Amino acid sequence: MITCEKEIKSGYLKKVIEETEQKNSNEKEFIQALKEVLTSLEPVIIKHESEYKKIGLLERLVEPERIISFRVPWVDDNGQAQVNRGFRVQFNGAIGPYKGGLRFHPSVNQSIMKFLAFEQIFKNALTGLPIGGGKGGSDFDPKGKSDLEIMRFCQSFMNELQKHIGQDVDVPAGDIGVGGREIGYLFGQFRKIRNTYEAGVLTGKGLEYGGSLARKEATGYGLMYFMKEMLKANNETVSGKTVIISGSGNVAIYACEKAQQMGANVVAMSDSSGCIYDKNGINLDAIKEIKEVNRGRIKEYLKYEPTAEYIENEGDMPPIYSIKADIVLPCATQNDISLETAKKLIENGTIAIGEGANMPCTNEAVEYFVANKILLAPGKAANAGGVATSALEMSQNSLRAAWSFEEVDKKLENIMINIFNQCEKADKEYNLGINYVAGANIAAFKKISNAMIAQGII
Ligand code: NDP
Repeated sequence: MITCEKEIKSGYLKKVIEETEQKNSNEKEFIQALKEVLTSLEPVIIKHESEYKKIGLLERLVEPERIISFRVPWVDDNGQAQVNRGFRVQFNGAIGPYKGGLRFHPSVNQSIMKFLAFEQIFKNALTGLPIGGGKGGSDFDPKGKSDLEIMRFCQSFMNELQKHIGQDVDVPAGDIGVGGREIGYLFGQFRKIRNTYEAGVLTGKGLEYGGSLARKEATGYGLMYFMKEMLKANNETVSGKTVIISGSGNVAIYACEKAQQMGANVVAMSDSSGCIYDKNGINLDAIKEIKEVNRGRIKEYLKYEPTAEYIENEGDMPPIYSIKADIVLPCATQNDISLETAKKLIENGTIAIGEGANMPCTNEAVEYFVANKILLAPGKAANAGGVATSALEMSQNSLRAAWSFEEVDKKLENIMINIFNQCEKADKEYNLGINYVAGANIAAFKKISNAMIAQGII
């Protein structure tokens, strides 16, 4: 079990954390996310303790409005029936329709879905757009599956999911294992079953059928826009810095692209098998071809750049984190950076971490970074560019309009600057001492709690 090391002074907060932990004792990722958020909200909770307690605000905040879990049967290319488990967690709809991605990965379970949906509530609030928090997915493993198998799986998944979503109800998008191809199959099946062209029901769509320019780039670009603002506020720049990026999926690729455009030298990227180190700077065209076109493994990079190195995973710490860098962008999955890894990064001279992934740092690593004055851009703020641009896609669908790349990109940049400003404002207001993690949580909580209070005990 993860222990809560921070001393909690508020009796109400302590009670809610203990009770939630007891009720969900087998959901370690959810408890981890919940503790990280709730403990950082203590200064606000103490101010309003009796009011919140009377209306059960925190008890309601930690309990999803709805969890849907369902069977996903499909037939593989050998004619063999397969069964996976599907989920949709509709956690909090106080500020808008539930919104959040779908993850297809063998590790998916209720705990991971709940942690992601819980984080999403706060992330979506920070965007300033009217979207509530949700998340979904399946323990289906897309790796090694044929295109037809992916299509049959997506169709079966949507046969059930379609009962629970809609452009004013719940709007899913992509996440790990769900990209443009999967969104296309999901959207096609939704349209067939419902006999309606409800473009705003899913985001991350192809440009030919209601997608938005710059959505694909948005999470990675947004991460770098946030990073630039955070560094600027601390008299630093991205230009000239050495960067390493874990992962080589959607977020990692476009974080790399923007970091390079900003004048940084990205020297390493990874996948779940290992990492490549190219001190001359990553050849991003090669990575895009390997990952976006061929759906291959990162070690194939050596065919393009023979002087680069490939280091296979071994032991607990992903080898990429042994490479020296000023800026580290974890863009793969949760709990990638442990306390031990955090110590290594600081030893290596890292000055800033930008969480492209959701919860890539353990709570112990986060506390260590903050205590050591490392600039930490928390995922729920720094990777909010994806969902923000999804909301821009929904706006374009409602208006039946298509904005230019530059228009969407500019709006994205402004949203990210605004998110950073909210984190910084809360940091200053509550005297947090350069703690954008707590700053993001507090700024988002104020908005969500006000909406929940206004809507009564529901
Ligand atoms: P992709 O599926 O495109 O890429 C995921 C990348 O992470 C791959 O390189 C993958 O390697 C690696 N990875 C996945 N699981 C593991 C693991 N257990 N250990 C090591 N590496 C792993 O996903 P995205 O880029 O979309 O998502 C990455 C992260 O960003 C996730 O945490 C997601 O929740 C978050 N995020 C994504 C957003 C988006 O718009 N896409 C928005 C906000 C957050 P391999 O191919 O070997 O599995």
